[in-house]
Amino acid sequence: MNDCIFCKIISGEIPSEKFYEDDLMIVIADISPKAAKHYLAIPKKHYKLFSEMSEADAVDLGKCIRKIGEIAPSLGLENGFRFVINQGDDGEQTVFHLHMHLLGGQKLTTCDHRKSV
Ligand code: AMP
Ligand code: ZN
Repeated sequence: MNDCIFCKIISGEIPSEKFYEDDLMIVIADISPKAAKHYLAIPKKHYKLFSEMSEADAVDLGKCIRKIGEIAPSLGLENGFRFVINQGDDGEQTVFHLHMHLLGGQKLTTCDHRKSV
């Protein structure tokens, strides 16, 4: 049995507002937004980490990224956005189905990747 919340959203078992959907991914609003616009682009195939991806998964993820660039203006991200994929414990991944955060709709403040250690 698959207890993955994103698989349940993809299948429709958990209702959600989908801003975009095709055969490879859905785009939904993050339930706990960290920016004026915060979306999750979720590949339909369940896997957690880059290290679990097949060659075909990599091709599909590339198609998803290209599509995100195409639809970004329709999501209110025409002025740019931050693209984040959290991986594992140190990356603070909390949902174990690979997903892409799209953050924008405002000028973003400094993030960990810009801070010195
Ligand atoms: P991460 O920490 O990178 O694994 O991101 C998981 C994200 O999923 C968090 O930003 C959560 O706010 C978001 N999230 C969890 N449950 C839901 C849900 N049911 N609908 C939309 N976003 C969710
Ligand atoms: Zn899943």
